[in-house]
Amino acid sequence: MTTVREKPVCASCGSDDVVFDGPVAWSVELNAWESCGHSYDKSMHCNGCDEDGGRPNWIPVPTSPETASPASS
Ligand SMILES: [Zn+2]
Repeated sequence: MTTVREKPVCASCGSDDVVFDGPVAWSVELNAWESCGHSYDKSMHCNGCDEDGGRPNWIPVPTSPETASPASS
């Protein structure tokens, strides 16, 4: 089972410090806001260069065995 992870980065400055507008729902299980399954590929806001409303570039994230499985206690 291999999952290629990717992340959105700013198309203008390449920063991954980007946020998106989108519908979320409260998850009691996660005790956190959970996205509703839409793919957020628009309405990007970049905290790096203040770009607003653009589309990100999606880049692959190399998987690291060390971070893939957090220490279990
Ligand atoms: Zn940017």
